Amino acid sequence: MSRFFTEKYAELVPYTPGEQPKDQQYVKLNTNESPFPPSPGVLAAVEAEAKRLQLYSDPESGEVSRAFAASLGLKQSQVLATNGSDEALNFAFMAFGRELAFPDISYGFYPVFAALNHIPYTEIPLREDLRIAAEDYEGLGKMIVIANPNAPTGLCLSLGEIEAILKANPDQVVLIDEAYVDFGAESAVKLLGEYDNLLICQTFSKSRSLAGARLGFAIGSEALIRDLNTIKYSTNPYNVNRMTAAAGLAALREDFYYKENARTIMENRAWTMAELKKLGFAGTDSRSNFLFVRHPALGGEALYKKLKARGVLVRHFKKPRIEDYVRITVGSREQMAVLLRETEAILKEAQA
Ligand SMILES: *Cc1c(COP(=O)(O)O)cnc(C)c1O
Repeated sequence: MSRFFTEKYAELVPYTPGEQPKDQQYVKLNTNESPFPPSPGVLAAVEAEAKRLQLYSDPESGEVSRAFAASLGLKQSQVLATNGSDEALNFAFMAFGRELAFPDISYGFYPVFAALNHIPYTEIPLREDLRIAAEDYEGLGKMIVIANPNAPTGLCLSLGEIEAILKANPDQVVLIDEAYVDFGAESAVKLLGEYDNLLICQTFSKSRSLAGARLGFAIGSEALIRDLNTIKYSTNPYNVNRMTAAAGLAALREDFYYKENARTIMENRAWTMAELKKLGFAGTDSRSNFLFVRHPALGGEALYKKLKARGVLVRHFKKPRIEDYVRITVGSREQMAVLLRETEAILKEAQA
């Protein structure tokens, strides 16, 4: 810390992103990126848009916002395009966060954004089986943030359970983070008409192969979106750059490609989990593009390190209750085959 750093942030512990090492080529299964490249239309759109980079982007991100809203059966005024959904989360915390509640094991950015904005927060423990129990979120008197499916467990709540949380907290914003919703969970978008306290965020980073472009959306009532716009126009009016907006629009037009990829990921997930079980692993019933697994004979950190030494990167969290686990992004069939081959070799070595 320099002597100029303001006291306001002296205690801030920043988010630690998954490592992006440059020392060698890894089979990279640690940050839940898509193994598939963007679709051809996205590449063409980005190239064309690059020629207009001397001009500011559209502060409303009008075209991509209209197309995205239409894909959900909504109006443009019910969505806000953001620089990744991380920005949507930050705007929502700034706009609505007096006090916050979220699960103790979830996306690591929630406590960081809370601390950044000086919002007190309560972490609600997951149940013994790592599930979020809707009853634990009744009448808390705080804004609620839940990732559905949750990360890093991959477990999801039913729409009925989300509805129970919305009903039990009518005077609080309930933010549902749907970063992984395209891999087998049910979106809460269809509840928007009935609950004015529901806010949703989605991202193009995972199922739409655009992690590097940074595009996310907040989705909610016109009133909530208006408030988020107040924050946005006080922070960064041109928050989505031209190439990203063009990429997002093209991706929406080629939705079939991304749906097909999501289907492939779900098939690879089932296959990989079945193979891991044959090797003695147990894990959660993930509805995401990652698996969350543990082995009785090998700790999570040991497995992470041994896999890294063999050129396969997975994610390990040094956190009580989940230390035994690793989170493995589900990639292509070829990537999964390498993961399984190396994991099997590690287990053989450990037994010897
Ligand atoms: C990846 C992720 C996000 C944010 O992704 P962006 O790249 O900022 O859109 C948000 N929430 C969860 C739970 C995630 O895993």
